[in-house]
Amino acid sequence: MKLRSVRGTHDIYGQHIKKYNKIEKIVCKNAELHSFNRLETPIFEFSEIFSKPLGEQSDVVLKEMYSFKDRNEEMLTLRPEYTTPMIRAAITNNLLSQLPLKLFGIGPMFRRERPQKGRYRQFNQINFEIFGSNNFLADLELIIIANEILVSILPNINFTLNINNLGQKNNLSEYKVKLSKYFSDHKDKLSNESKEKIYSNPLRILDSKNDYDIKISNNAPKIFDIISKEEKNNFNELKKGLNFFNINFKENHKLVRGLDYYCSTVFEFKTSELGTQDTLLGGGRYDGLINTLGGPDIPGVGWAAGVERISILMNEIEKSNNIIHLAISDKKYVEHILNIINHLKKNNIPFYWNYKYNLKKSLSYANSNNIEYVIIIGEHEYINNYLTIRNLNTGNQSRVEVSEIKNIFNGKF
Ligand code: AMP
Repeated sequence: MKLRSVRGTHDIYGQHIKKYNKIEKIVCKNAELHSFNRLETPIFEFSEIFSKPLGEQSDVVLKEMYSFKDRNEEMLTLRPEYTTPMIRAAITNNLLSQLPLKLFGIGPMFRRERPQKGRYRQFNQINFEIFGSNNFLADLELIIIANEILVSILPNINFTLNINNLGQKNNLSEYKVKLSKYFSDHKDKLSNESKEKIYSNPLRILDSKNDYDIKISNNAPKIFDIISKEEKNNFNELKKGLNFFNINFKENHKLVRGLDYYCSTVFEFKTSELGTQDTLLGGGRYDGLINTLGGPDIPGVGWAAGVERISILMNEIEKSNNIIHLAISDKKYVEHILNIINHLKKNNIPFYWNYKYNLKKSLSYANSNNIEYVIIIGEHEYINNYLTIRNLNTGNQSRVEVSEIKNIFNGKF
């Protein structure tokens, strides 16, 4: 058998892991600033928590879930998204006594999609959720955090925030009937794929990327025309808030999001620099979902962003040369070197040793890798309990006692 990884999955190493770590650091910093607590859920759950809430007709449930029967016949699913597991966890761990509850997490999701650039079968998502507030300020706070994270990670990338309001569940049901009627009147001009969705999932036709579908859906009825006055007011307040924070946005009345549980405010950050997989981050309100999953009847709002899509747009992270290399001439000195390593460790000074005893080779390796400092141990250093520190940039070198390591490198790492 030829050794290979599963289609649509990838190993994270080198530049990728550096980017992942940077993203995680920025996410955690912003979460802390806004007092969101981290919550990580298992990667698999009972299948029922996904199938109904996400929508039996959604692409994810119809085609993309990795589900399997456990040995005791229970159906399990690798999580395709984060919101429902977060809600399940908040309910089963009794976290909903103090509201609003603000949570975030970062981790792998699984969807059996057709892999392409920016679309994988295992990918990582950042998720932010607020349970228990129907105030537009919760929507605003989430969008501010999303914007700040994207701006900090991708300072040179253009992206646009798209916003829409889907009204409440009854508006959506009314809207779906209107849309089905409209699309069925224009059936002949729709793509085959969209034709199949006219009655089962007409909302999805609105975000089809097919040119014919786009032409037809441009003149489709708009949800905004049937939502309540209260929702319209909320939407206006949200827009004022975004203006206050200088966050540019585009009202996009065709923005519907892919899963059934969304209502009221929905939003997406899109970029033209990723090809067809152009959504970096998407989210919205899901009032009613917590109740559907067996929790109290409280509202919720949240977003998810794709780590891989963000990483594709990030600049290369430069290799750090802030590591001290050890160059040892003979294995007789191993105890001396262990003592030095112990000192470096205790003082949080990063070091690298190749376990070899060859001064010349170690020095030339450090030189070719742009390393700044080398600790050299030869016979003289061993006998006198010293070490020699050479700065490869300047060529300067000095002999110091082991206990002085801390002072020499103080503040450099
Ligand atoms: P969604 O849950 O579909 O709204 O996705 C939220 C975000 O996750 C998207 O905006 C993408 O950045 C990312 N994402 C979704 N599906 C995939 C995938 N198959 N591969 C990579 N990233 C994805």
